[in-house]
Amino acid sequence: MKFTVLGSGAGLPSKDRNTQSFVIDCVLEYNEYILIDAGEALQHRILHTHIKPSKIKNIFITHLHGDHIFGLPGFLSSRAFQGGEGIPLTIYGPAGLREWLDLTFKISESTLNYPLEIIEVEADMTIRLNDFTVRVLPLSHGIDSFAYIFKENDKIGELLTDKLLALGLKPGPVYGKIKASETFTVEGKEYQTADFIGETIYGRKIAVHGDTRLNSKEDYLNQLFNADLIVHEATFLKDEKEKAHDYFHSEINQVLNMFSELNYKQLLFVHISSRYTDEDIREVSAALNDKAAIAFDYFELPIPRNVQ
Ligand SMILES: [Zn+2]
Ligand SMILES: [Zn+2]
Repeated sequence: MKFTVLGSGAGLPSKDRNTQSFVIDCVLEYNEYILIDAGEALQHRILHTHIKPSKIKNIFITHLHGDHIFGLPGFLSSRAFQGGEGIPLTIYGPAGLREWLDLTFKISESTLNYPLEIIEVEADMTIRLNDFTVRVLPLSHGIDSFAYIFKENDKIGELLTDKLLALGLKPGPVYGKIKASETFTVEGKEYQTADFIGETIYGRKIAVHGDTRLNSKEDYLNQLFNADLIVHEATFLKDEKEKAHDYFHSEINQVLNMFSELNYKQLLFVHISSRYTDEDIREVSAALNDKAAIAFDYFELPIPRNVQ
Protein backbone atom coordinates (compact mmCIF):
# COMPACT_ATOMS: atom_id res chain seq x y z
CA MET A 1 0.00 0.00 0.00
CA LYS A 2 1.25 3.49 -0.72
CA PHE A 3 0.05 7.06 -0.69
CA THR A 4 0.58 9.12 -3.84
CA VAL A 5 0.22 12.87 -4.12
CA LEU A 6 -1.17 14.04 -7.47
CA GLY A 7 -1.73 17.63 -6.38
CA SER A 8 -0.06 19.26 -3.39
CA GLY A 9 -1.07 22.87 -4.00
CA ALA A 10 -3.68 25.19 -2.51
CA GLY A 11 -6.26 27.32 -4.33
CA LEU A 12 -4.37 28.29 -7.46
CA PRO A 13 -2.25 25.74 -9.32
CA SER A 14 1.36 26.57 -10.07
CA LYS A 15 3.74 25.03 -12.62
CA ASP A 16 4.98 22.61 -9.97
CA ARG A 17 1.93 22.07 -7.79
CA ASN A 18 -1.47 21.02 -9.02
CA THR A 19 -4.58 21.57 -6.93
CA GLN A 20 -5.42 18.86 -4.43
CA SER A 21 -5.71 15.16 -5.31
CA PHE A 22 -4.31 12.07 -3.63
CA VAL A 23 -4.43 8.35 -4.22
CA ILE A 24 -4.23 5.49 -1.75
CA ASP A 25 -2.75 2.74 -3.87
CA CYS A 26 -4.06 -0.57 -2.56
CA VAL A 27 -3.81 -2.49 -5.80
CA LEU A 28 -1.75 -5.24 -4.19
CA GLU A 29 -4.24 -5.70 -1.36
CA TYR A 30 -7.62 -4.91 -2.95
CA ASN A 31 -6.90 -4.36 -6.65
CA GLU A 32 -7.99 -0.74 -6.51
CA TYR A 33 -6.98 2.85 -6.02
CA ILE A 34 -8.89 5.13 -3.68
CA LEU A 35 -8.92 8.70 -4.92
CA ILE A 36 -9.23 11.57 -2.46
CA ASP A 37 -10.22 14.93 -3.92
CA ALA A 38 -10.12 15.75 -7.60
CA GLY A 39 -8.44 19.07 -8.31
CA GLU A 40 -8.54 20.48 -11.82
CA ALA A 41 -6.31 18.61 -14.32
CA LEU A 42 -6.41 15.49 -12.18
CA GLN A 43 -6.66 13.33 -15.28
CA HIS A 44 -3.56 14.96 -16.77
CA ARG A 45 -1.66 14.18 -13.59
CA ILE A 46 -2.84 10.55 -13.73
CA LEU A 47 -1.39 10.27 -17.25
CA HIS A 48 2.08 10.70 -15.74
CA THR A 49 1.58 7.73 -13.38
CA HIS A 50 0.84 4.01 -13.68
CA ILE A 51 -2.64 4.54 -12.20
CA LYS A 52 -5.42 2.96 -14.24
CA PRO A 53 -8.60 5.08 -14.04
CA SER A 54 -10.71 1.91 -14.26
CA LYS A 55 -9.16 0.75 -10.99
CA ILE A 56 -10.29 3.89 -9.20
CA LYS A 57 -13.49 2.44 -7.75
CA ASN A 58 -14.05 4.77 -4.80
CA ILE A 59 -13.57 8.52 -4.56
CA PHE A 60 -13.72 10.60 -1.39
CA ILE A 61 -14.27 14.35 -1.68
CA THR A 62 -13.31 16.35 1.40
CA HIS A 63 -15.28 19.49 0.52
CA LEU A 64 -16.84 21.27 -2.41
CA HIS A 65 -14.39 24.12 -3.02
CA GLY A 66 -13.31 24.24 -6.66
CA ASP A 67 -9.66 23.41 -6.02
CA HIS A 68 -10.83 20.01 -4.71
CA ILE A 69 -13.51 19.10 -7.27
CA PHE A 70 -13.02 20.86 -10.61
CA GLY A 71 -11.17 17.83 -11.99
CA LEU A 72 -14.01 15.46 -11.18
CA PRO A 73 -16.37 15.77 -14.19
CA GLY A 74 -13.50 15.45 -16.67
CA PHE A 75 -12.06 12.46 -14.87
CA LEU A 76 -15.45 10.71 -14.65
CA SER A 77 -16.11 11.27 -18.36
CA SER A 78 -12.68 10.09 -19.49
CA ARG A 79 -12.73 7.04 -17.22
CA ALA A 80 -15.36 5.52 -19.48
CA PHE A 81 -12.90 5.55 -22.38
CA GLN A 82 -9.97 4.30 -20.32
CA GLY A 83 -11.17 0.80 -19.57
CA GLY A 84 -13.83 1.82 -17.08
CA GLU A 85 -16.85 0.70 -19.09
CA GLY A 86 -19.22 -1.22 -16.83
CA ILE A 87 -16.95 -0.94 -13.78
CA PRO A 88 -18.90 0.67 -10.92
CA LEU A 89 -17.65 3.75 -9.12
CA THR A 90 -18.79 5.25 -5.82
CA ILE A 91 -18.16 8.85 -4.80
CA TYR A 92 -18.44 9.97 -1.20
CA GLY A 93 -18.65 13.69 -0.44
CA PRO A 94 -20.58 16.49 1.25
CA ALA A 95 -24.20 17.38 0.49
CA GLY A 96 -24.47 19.25 -2.80
CA LEU A 97 -22.09 16.95 -4.67
CA ARG A 98 -24.91 15.03 -6.37
CA GLU A 99 -26.73 18.19 -7.47
CA TRP A 100 -23.53 19.71 -8.88
CA LEU A 101 -22.58 16.58 -10.82
CA ASP A 102 -26.12 15.96 -12.10
CA LEU A 103 -26.34 19.53 -13.41
CA THR A 104 -22.85 19.42 -14.94
CA PHE A 105 -23.60 16.18 -16.78
CA LYS A 106 -27.03 17.36 -17.87
CA ILE A 107 -25.90 20.69 -19.30
CA SER A 108 -22.80 19.26 -20.97
CA GLU A 109 -24.85 16.30 -22.25
CA SER A 110 -22.32 13.87 -20.82
CA THR A 111 -23.26 10.28 -20.17
CA LEU A 112 -21.34 7.57 -18.38
CA ASN A 113 -21.24 3.94 -19.43
CA TYR A 114 -20.67 2.61 -15.92
CA PRO A 115 -22.78 2.67 -12.74
CA LEU A 116 -22.03 5.74 -10.62
CA GLU A 117 -23.23 5.94 -7.04
CA ILE A 118 -22.96 9.21 -5.11
CA ILE A 119 -23.15 8.98 -1.33
CA GLU A 120 -23.43 12.27 0.52
CA VAL A 121 -21.64 11.95 3.85
CA GLU A 122 -22.32 13.45 7.25
CA ALA A 123 -20.12 14.05 10.26
CA ASP A 124 -19.27 10.96 12.31
CA MET A 125 -20.50 8.55 9.67
CA THR A 126 -18.77 5.19 9.31
CA ILE A 127 -18.26 3.64 5.87
CA ARG A 128 -17.20 0.04 5.20
CA LEU A 129 -14.93 -0.32 2.22
CA ASN A 130 -13.01 -3.52 1.39
CA ASP A 131 -11.13 -4.26 4.58
CA PHE A 132 -11.29 -0.62 5.70
CA THR A 133 -13.53 1.17 8.11
CA VAL A 134 -13.67 4.82 7.08
CA ARG A 135 -14.63 7.40 9.70
CA VAL A 136 -15.90 10.78 8.58
CA LEU A 137 -14.81 13.61 10.90
CA PRO A 138 -16.08 17.20 10.69
CA LEU A 139 -13.55 20.00 10.23
CA SER A 140 -13.78 23.79 10.42
CA HIS A 141 -13.57 25.50 7.03
CA GLY A 142 -16.59 27.77 6.66
CA ILE A 143 -18.35 25.16 4.51
CA ASP A 144 -18.73 21.45 5.24
CA SER A 145 -15.26 19.94 5.13
CA PHE A 146 -14.31 16.49 6.33
CA ALA A 147 -11.35 14.34 7.28
CA TYR A 148 -11.53 10.70 6.22
CA ILE A 149 -9.79 8.19 8.45
CA PHE A 150 -9.12 4.93 6.65
CA LYS A 151 -8.49 2.14 9.15
CA GLU A 152 -7.70 -1.30 7.87
CA ASN A 153 -9.10 -4.06 10.06
CA ASP A 154 -6.66 -5.90 12.32
CA LYS A 155 -5.96 -9.47 11.27
CA ILE A 156 -5.42 -12.48 13.46
CA GLY A 157 -1.84 -13.80 13.16
CA GLU A 158 -0.85 -16.86 11.14
CA LEU A 159 -0.91 -20.37 12.60
CA LEU A 160 2.53 -21.38 13.88
CA THR A 161 2.83 -24.50 11.78
CA ASP A 162 6.18 -25.55 13.28
CA LYS A 163 4.58 -25.79 16.70
CA LEU A 164 1.62 -27.75 15.34
CA LEU A 165 3.91 -30.14 13.45
CA ALA A 166 5.81 -30.70 16.69
CA LEU A 167 2.53 -31.96 18.17
CA GLY A 168 2.21 -34.33 15.23
CA LEU A 169 -0.50 -32.31 13.45
CA LYS A 170 0.08 -32.24 9.70
CA PRO A 171 -1.36 -29.44 7.48
CA GLY A 172 -4.96 -30.06 6.41
CA PRO A 173 -8.53 -29.13 7.30
CA VAL A 174 -7.61 -29.59 10.97
CA TYR A 175 -5.58 -26.36 10.82
CA GLY A 176 -8.70 -24.38 9.83
CA LYS A 177 -10.66 -25.98 12.67
CA ILE A 178 -7.95 -25.08 15.17
CA LYS A 179 -7.84 -21.46 14.00
CA ALA A 180 -11.61 -21.21 14.38
CA SER A 181 -11.73 -22.45 17.98
CA GLU A 182 -10.25 -21.30 21.26
CA THR A 183 -8.87 -24.67 22.29
CA PHE A 184 -8.03 -27.99 20.64
CA THR A 185 -7.12 -31.46 21.88
CA VAL A 186 -4.32 -33.77 20.79
CA GLU A 187 -4.05 -37.24 22.30
CA GLY A 188 -6.27 -36.25 25.22
CA LYS A 189 -4.37 -33.09 26.05
CA GLU A 190 -6.02 -29.68 25.65
CA TYR A 191 -4.12 -26.74 24.11
CA GLN A 192 -4.95 -23.01 23.86
CA THR A 193 -5.13 -21.95 20.21
CA ALA A 194 -3.71 -18.51 21.14
CA ASP A 195 -0.40 -20.22 21.96
CA PHE A 196 -0.20 -21.44 18.36
CA ILE A 197 -1.02 -18.15 16.63
CA GLY A 198 1.60 -15.64 15.50
CA GLU A 199 1.55 -11.93 16.17
CA THR A 200 -1.56 -9.92 15.26
CA ILE A 201 -1.24 -8.00 12.02
CA TYR A 202 -2.45 -4.52 12.88
CA GLY A 203 -4.36 -2.69 10.17
CA ARG A 204 -2.96 0.52 8.78
CA LYS A 205 -4.50 3.91 9.55
CA ILE A 206 -4.39 6.80 7.11
CA ALA A 207 -6.04 10.11 8.03
CA VAL A 208 -6.60 12.57 5.19
CA HIS A 209 -7.91 16.04 5.99
CA GLY A 210 -9.83 18.52 3.92
CA ASP A 211 -9.08 22.20 4.33
CA THR A 212 -9.52 23.31 7.92
CA ARG A 213 -8.69 25.60 10.75
CA LEU A 214 -6.86 24.02 13.62
CA ASN A 215 -8.98 21.51 15.50
CA SER A 216 -7.56 20.34 18.79
CA LYS A 217 -10.61 18.65 20.33
CA GLU A 218 -9.63 15.61 22.31
CA ASP A 219 -12.09 13.21 20.68
CA TYR A 220 -10.75 14.25 17.27
CA LEU A 221 -7.13 13.70 18.30
CA ASN A 222 -8.07 10.29 19.75
CA GLN A 223 -9.25 9.20 16.32
CA LEU A 224 -5.79 9.90 14.90
CA PHE A 225 -3.94 7.95 17.57
CA ASN A 226 -1.36 5.53 16.15
CA ALA A 227 -1.93 6.69 12.57
CA ASP A 228 0.55 5.40 10.01
CA LEU A 229 0.03 8.57 8.04
CA ILE A 230 -1.66 11.89 8.76
CA VAL A 231 -2.17 14.16 5.78
CA HIS A 232 -2.94 17.72 6.85
CA GLU A 233 -3.10 21.05 5.10
CA ALA A 234 -0.51 23.76 5.71
CA THR A 235 -1.77 26.59 3.53
CA PHE A 236 0.39 28.93 5.59
CA LEU A 237 4.03 28.00 6.11
CA LYS A 238 5.31 31.00 7.98
CA ASP A 239 4.31 32.64 11.21
CA GLU A 240 0.77 33.52 10.06
CA LYS A 241 -1.45 31.92 12.67
CA GLU A 242 -4.04 34.70 12.77
CA LYS A 243 -4.32 34.87 9.02
CA ALA A 244 -4.71 31.09 8.88
CA HIS A 245 -7.53 31.26 11.41
CA ASP A 246 -9.28 34.14 9.60
CA TYR A 247 -9.22 32.25 6.28
CA PHE A 248 -10.27 28.91 7.82
CA HIS A 249 -6.90 27.33 7.09
CA SER A 250 -3.92 26.07 9.09
CA GLU A 251 -0.37 27.17 9.66
CA ILE A 252 2.34 24.53 9.70
CA ASN A 253 3.71 25.11 13.20
CA GLN A 254 0.23 25.14 14.68
CA VAL A 255 -0.36 21.70 13.20
CA LEU A 256 2.97 20.37 14.46
CA ASN A 257 2.17 21.66 17.94
CA MET A 258 -1.31 20.19 17.87
CA PHE A 259 0.12 16.73 17.12
CA SER A 260 3.15 17.04 19.40
CA GLU A 261 1.68 14.75 22.08
CA LEU A 262 0.11 12.35 19.60
CA ASN A 263 1.59 9.00 18.65
CA TYR A 264 1.82 8.69 14.84
CA LYS A 265 4.35 7.56 12.24
CA GLN A 266 4.29 10.12 9.42
CA LEU A 267 2.83 13.58 8.94
CA LEU A 268 2.54 14.93 5.43
CA PHE A 269 1.77 18.60 4.79
CA VAL A 270 -0.25 19.42 1.69
CA HIS A 271 -2.30 22.29 0.21
CA ILE A 272 0.80 24.46 -0.07
CA SER A 273 0.19 27.99 -1.32
CA SER A 274 1.71 28.87 -4.70
CA ARG A 275 3.12 32.11 -3.28
CA TYR A 276 5.92 30.25 -1.46
CA THR A 277 9.19 29.92 -3.35
CA ASP A 278 11.31 26.76 -3.52
CA GLU A 279 13.66 28.44 -1.09
CA ASP A 280 10.81 29.06 1.37
CA ILE A 281 9.86 25.38 1.16
CA ARG A 282 13.47 24.23 1.66
CA GLU A 283 13.84 26.50 4.66
CA VAL A 284 10.63 25.30 6.34
CA SER A 285 11.34 21.64 5.46
CA ALA A 286 14.79 21.81 7.05
CA ALA A 287 13.23 22.74 10.38
CA LEU A 288 10.76 19.83 10.42
CA ASN A 289 11.25 16.74 12.58
CA ASP A 290 11.98 13.30 11.04
CA LYS A 291 8.33 12.29 10.97
CA ALA A 292 7.07 15.31 9.04
CA ALA A 293 7.48 16.38 5.42
CA ILE A 294 6.06 18.87 2.95
CA ALA A 295 4.55 17.04 -0.02
CA PHE A 296 5.27 17.71 -3.67
CA ASP A 297 3.42 16.44 -6.72
CA TYR A 298 4.05 12.74 -7.49
CA PHE A 299 5.40 12.22 -3.98
CA GLU A 300 4.95 8.54 -3.01
CA LEU A 301 4.99 7.21 0.51
CA PRO A 302 4.97 3.44 1.14
CA ILE A 303 2.75 2.37 4.02
CA PRO A 304 3.96 -1.07 5.15
CA ARG A 305 1.94 -3.52 7.21
CA ASN A 306 2.29 -3.29 10.97
CA VAL A 307 3.42 -6.36 12.84
CA GLN A 308 3.88 -5.67 16.55
ZN1 LIG B 1 -8.46 24.09 -0.91
ZN1 LIG C 1 -11.33 24.84 0.80
